Amino acid sequence: MLRIGQADYTLLRWEAERSYPRECCGILLGTMGMNGRTVNLTLTCDNVRTDDAQRRYSIRPEQVIAAFKLARSRGENIVGFYHSHPDHPAHYSKTDLIEAHWFDCSYVITSVEQGRATVTESFVLLGTEEAKSFDQEEMEILDQRPLHPPL
Ligand SMILES: [Zn+2]
Repeated sequence: MLRIGQADYTLLRWEAERSYPRECCGILLGTMGMNGRTVNLTLTCDNVRTDDAQRRYSIRPEQVIAAFKLARSRGENIVGFYHSHPDHPAHYSKTDLIEAHWFDCSYVITSVEQGRATVTESFVLLGTEEAKSFDQEEMEILDQRPLHPPL
C-alpha cells in the first residue's frame, strides 16, 4: 500500500504531462510502516537519458544521494520512485524491473496518452537482487485540507 497526498499525486501526474513525449522521473520521500509507505515529499528529478528518453529514464546518482541525505535530515526514507510511460500502459517494463534496486520501495508509473496523464499505478519491489519481482499495490490518495479554509 502506498499512501500519497492529493498534492503530491497531482504533481507527479503533472510532471508526466509536462515531460511528454519524454519520460519524467522523481523520488518519493516519506515513512515506512507496517502497512506500506506514506509519501511526505515528492522530488522531481531530471531524466538524464540522452539516447532513448521517450522509453527510458535515469536519475542522476548525485540526485539520489542528495535525496537520501534530505530524507535522513527529515527523519524519513526514500520510499519510492516515479516515472511516466508516454503512449504506453502504466505497467512496468522488463527494463524497469532490471533497473530497480530499492527493495520494499514503491515504483509509481503514470501512462500519458497524447500528452494527457491517464492511469497511475504503483508496484512494490520484492525479493532479492537474484530473484526480484514487482507486486502491484493499492494506492490511497489522501485528501488534504485546503490551505485557506472557505470563509
Ligand atoms: Zn518504465
